[in-house]
Amino acid sequence: MTTVKEILDAMSNPSDEDKALVEKAYEYSKKAHDGQERYSGEPYFIHPAGAAKALAEYDMDAVSIAAGLLHDAVEDGRATREDIEKEFGKEVLFIVDGVTKLGKHRYHGAERHAESLRRLLVATASDIRVLIVKLADRYHNMRTLDHVPEPKRRRIALETLEIYAPIADRLGMGKMRSGLEDLAFPYVDPDAAHHTAELRKLKTKETEVSLTNVQKELKHELAKKGITTFRSDIRMKGLWSLHKKLRRKQDDINQIHDIAALRIIVPSIEDCYSTLGIVHSLYRPLPGEFKDYIAFPKPNGYQSLHTTVVTHDAGIVEIQIRSEAMHREAEFGIASHMSYKQLGKGVEKLDKQAQKSMFSALSLSWIRSFIPSLMKVSKKEGGETHGPVKIPNWLEELAAAHNEVANSKEFVEGLKEDFFSHRVFVFTPKGDVIDLPVASTPIDFAYAIHSDLGNHLSGAKVNGKLVSFESTLGNGDVVEIIRKDSARPTKKWLEIARTSLARRHIRTALGMGENEKSPSRKNFKK
Ligand code: MN
Repeated sequence: MTTVKEILDAMSNPSDEDKALVEKAYEYSKKAHDGQERYSGEPYFIHPAGAAKALAEYDMDAVSIAAGLLHDAVEDGRATREDIEKEFGKEVLFIVDGVTKLGKHRYHGAERHAESLRRLLVATASDIRVLIVKLADRYHNMRTLDHVPEPKRRRIALETLEIYAPIADRLGMGKMRSGLEDLAFPYVDPDAAHHTAELRKLKTKETEVSLTNVQKELKHELAKKGITTFRSDIRMKGLWSLHKKLRRKQDDINQIHDIAALRIIVPSIEDCYSTLGIVHSLYRPLPGEFKDYIAFPKPNGYQSLHTTVVTHDAGIVEIQIRSEAMHREAEFGIASHMSYKQLGKGVEKLDKQAQKSMFSALSLSWIRSFIPSLMKVSKKEGGETHGPVKIPNWLEELAAAHNEVANSKEFVEGLKEDFFSHRVFVFTPKGDVIDLPVASTPIDFAYAIHSDLGNHLSGAKVNGKLVSFESTLGNGDVVEIIRKDSARPTKKWLEIARTSLARRHIRTALGMGENEKSPSRKNFKK
């Protein structure tokens, strides 16, 4: 049984208030689930307590952890919504409600359909913590899947692999993604999981020696060049992702060089590139295997430098180089933006506001980008390797709504109220919709399309008229970017740009470190 102390210990610098909230929720939930059992015969409370601990490990805030503790307390009627609100506040109730809705979203007939869906969208979009608590819920269920009866067990594992892990990936939560995948894999395909584990063990033994040698050599070289504050570790590829890669490479393990990789974590972006230089001068890189995910992040925001080199004892190894901030982001994704407690109260307030709009952007665009793959999953019914996947109702309804949006006036009006108050939707000259936070500028627009367009932005037309870079974009504006090879970002752009995406690219283009604060951030401080 997870104790409340374990949860509190997993939190980073909780305030007394935070601790009190979590302690209260722990006791409350324990009472609410008293006498209920899991399939294993253990007390039901181990589940919410386990989910809450995962949330704490993910550095989520006290409100999310409290909601994790309470997420099943209302559903079975032991606690009332009114009670939760009175005891724990609106925010906690909102998340508990959202998670409950995600759990058992049902079709209620045509006219109520759009409305319930709208609520659902609003719930996840206006507070992404709903989805994160849902992931923690699933994560703990996967860890205790052994006790669930067979047909149900397989369905849950499949659903985890095909739906929840991609959601975690989409949110940039790499640690959660690989955790979910590797918990589910053995239930979905026990033979393949066993085979992959054996292969990984064998291959790791081979590379371990060269990796340790590389680690030593590099430490020495880096120190010579003045880089002394760094840490490195050996990261193992997850079983499921290794399995997928093996299938892509015709089961030839010798074509896979990143089963075990050396990860080097340095303080700043500059250090990343200097370290890369040192690595490449020590070892010959394999051509075509170098990837600069710092300049070109993956769609979910992942940043690192990846290179594959031939080491002196002829072993081929992958080396991943990233900054501390990138590392945190890669492990925790969106959750890594949730707390900046160390920055002090004022900034924390600001961040939440700023983040709220970021989260809503993310879930909206996430939903859009996710739906095509969702449709594919549902079409894959009876498909090659994994058989039919049952899509959770709530996602099925999201997918259905995607086609319905244009037809439902109510839905569109509802969206307008909830989203348009902090988002603007503008168009490219070709008619593609770009979704930006309110008060975005042509600079944000250009970077939202492509970093190259942003970096060579020389002028902008809104609805056919030339405008200044400071002008803010409104709903329905058609924005045309004028690109010139000679155009370059200036420091002033940092004050103008509204999105963190644009600011990040501008800072990179200006050669500034990621830790340097942009001036506009200071301006936000009240
Ligand atoms: Mn649950």
